[in-house]
Amino acid sequence: MIRANFHTHTTLCDGKNTPQEMAKAGFDKGLLALGFSGHMDQDVHMDWDAYVTAIRQLKDEYRGRMDILMGVELDTLYDPACCPGAEYRIGSTHFLDVDVPCDTAVDWTPERLETLCLEAFGGNWMALVRAYYELEVTTHDRTECTFVGHFDLVSKFNEGGKYFDETSKEYLDPALEAMEYLVGEGVPFEVSCGALARGIRSQPYPRRELLSALHEMGGQILVNSDAHSADALCGGLDDGARFAASCGFTSALVLGHDARGEVVMREVPLGEGAQ
Ligand SMILES: [Zn+2]
Ligand SMILES: [Zn+2]
Repeated sequence: MIRANFHTHTTLCDGKNTPQEMAKAGFDKGLLALGFSGHMDQDVHMDWDAYVTAIRQLKDEYRGRMDILMGVELDTLYDPACCPGAEYRIGSTHFLDVDVPCDTAVDWTPERLETLCLEAFGGNWMALVRAYYELEVTTHDRTECTFVGHFDLVSKFNEGGKYFDETSKEYLDPALEAMEYLVGEGVPFEVSCGALARGIRSQPYPRRELLSALHEMGGQILVNSDAHSADALCGGLDDGARFAASCGFTSALVLGHDARGEVVMREVPLGEGAQ
């Protein structure tokens, strides 16, 4: 059982519950560590100072009871200087780097994604996929992230292979190339369970082929919920851990403060009773 989550949104960005409500839910659910990771991207970005103040208050409130971390979900294309003092960074790719009048996010609605594919790539889904992974390969270099968020988010609305075949070589090759580079940089990946818990997807990110490949490459994982509401804070974490185990992983990483107050990553077993 994973008793920690490091991908958490609040009303300070696009979440439904306040930081206080999220912390209370985490504590009530028995979490040992809770990391906040408000969005900083071209669409959703927080008043960073207000965020810092809010999370610092919670750190004081829960000191000795639950380890609270102040992270950020930093988009690959956003200014990395936007979040001074963040204790960890999730490097997430939501937007494509294309010059078109329409929205460039891949995760808003299927209709907007279809428009993006048409306007930027003339309807060529594989061109869109390649552009996504060609950008994502730069996420660690650009954001200096602690871990990579929802690696194959580009497939969010592709359940059942609606737009492209996620098991095809054509799809997997650019994804694996990006993954291999990021693993070489030493950056772990999250197993993102939120969409699984909400019933939007049948698998976490990364999907089975990619997560199994990550294991074979010697990559490491964190298991997170990407929660946008208190009731979803631990949503899918156990399923995500089981899924990761079925892809070969026996351990995951968790973040936490050491005795000196520095944020460190440590490895915990994925099995029953594990933190
Ligand atoms: Zn995200
Ligand atoms: Zn998120």
